[in-house]
Amino acid sequence: MNEHQYSNISQIDTAHHIHPFNNAGELKEKGVRVMTSAKGVYVTDSNGKHYLDGFAGLWCVNVGYGRERITRAVTQQMNELPYYNSFFGTTNTPAALLAQKVTEHAGPHMNHVFFTNSGSEATDTWFRLARTYWAALGKPQKTAVIARRNGYHGSTVAGASLGGMKPMHAQGGLPIEGIHHINQPYWYGEGGDMTPDEFGLLRARELEAKIDELGEDNVAAFVAEPIQGAGGVIIPPSTYWPEIARICKARNILLISDEVICGFGRLGTWFGYQHFGVEPDMAPIAKGLSSGYLPIGGVLISDRVADVLTKHVGEFNHGYTYSGHPVAAAAALENIKIIEEENLVARVHDDIGPAFHAGWKTLEDHPLVGEAESVGLIAGLQLAADKATRRRFENGDKLGSMVRDAALADGLILRATGDRMLASPPLIISHAEVAHLVSITRKALDTVLTAVN
Ligand SMILES: *Cc1c(COP(=O)(O)O)cnc(C)c1O
Repeated sequence: MNEHQYSNISQIDTAHHIHPFNNAGELKEKGVRVMTSAKGVYVTDSNGKHYLDGFAGLWCVNVGYGRERITRAVTQQMNELPYYNSFFGTTNTPAALLAQKVTEHAGPHMNHVFFTNSGSEATDTWFRLARTYWAALGKPQKTAVIARRNGYHGSTVAGASLGGMKPMHAQGGLPIEGIHHINQPYWYGEGGDMTPDEFGLLRARELEAKIDELGEDNVAAFVAEPIQGAGGVIIPPSTYWPEIARICKARNILLISDEVICGFGRLGTWFGYQHFGVEPDMAPIAKGLSSGYLPIGGVLISDRVADVLTKHVGEFNHGYTYSGHPVAAAAALENIKIIEEENLVARVHDDIGPAFHAGWKTLEDHPLVGEAESVGLIAGLQLAADKATRRRFENGDKLGSMVRDAALADGLILRATGDRMLASPPLIISHAEVAHLVSITRKALDTVLTAVN
């Protein structure tokens, strides 16, 4: 077989390319969409159709598409030093400068970073480091890690195990040993008659109960996303994070904040933990670190953990061939300079975030919508059958897909997670583009309302 037997890229692709998180059989039948170019907040497919990318690729293209500055930085670095490893006591200039630049924004307690190629690898890295940390302090039995149902931490064995997605656990015999899950702070769906604040405390205290059940001396760490992304943009009640931080401190376990989505300005702060006012011990990063221009991730490591690593661990037997890759680091460095120079974090906090919130919130008057919430430029919209009782649709998953497809047909990319619609646009989105995003979303809701009535 060669490409001449096919009439287009879509056919070649479905014949040979197995896609992440897709039903391979279904894809073969339906065909795939081929994206060919992008600029600003718009992407274009092979039929010449333009889409407003309300999802920033996959939560990652924070500075938008078509940034020639990044292209130039990458080209220059490719020509100078396309690759060298960070093993054996060696570094390269972009990796060193990137480590400095990232930690500059991470808070006074967070001064170190370990580089990976993805968020999943970052998860595996902190997971091993957390256990190594306690072993080095003479507590080798402190190994259990607590995570949350419906959390997402990547697709490697540790990542999928720590995530709380049942369909992922069902494939490959997961979770691995030593990982425990507590419930999520999803008030709309699970809060019953409680106020959000009461419910936030209740769900946070499940962590305390789980630690006590396992024994404090057996628990290494707790991990959570500041706002759950893939789980449906679940924004926790305001009581949740302070209580989580209190419990981790009181029980002496490491707090891991998964910043893969929330990092690099998405919530209107450099990192999500700053929005919620907590200080984690480690924080995996990826996505917005390079705005997706090249694959790179890492783990922010606090002084507390770094000191033990430096003084007591000896060699940390962990790393990737491409840890601190000079070209990926050059892309990330230039990306962060853009975020700084264009004041994108403050823009999200003070200007476009509030404007987005005001626009998105107007969708709450729609008959299909139970709640429309956002923080910075991450948003969730709950489909509901009854606003007053928060009763959800029995076929909510189907309705979610229908809204997504209607928006797509109209040139807007949104994501559906079950009966929740998700948006996470590039941080450079204009006021006019926000208005457009909201109006196409409303139109898609109208289309689905008509279809089901
Ligand atoms: C995407 C994501 C990951 C995994 O990152 P990859 O780069 O896809 O491996 C981990 N945690 C969170 C919160 C994510 O959204």
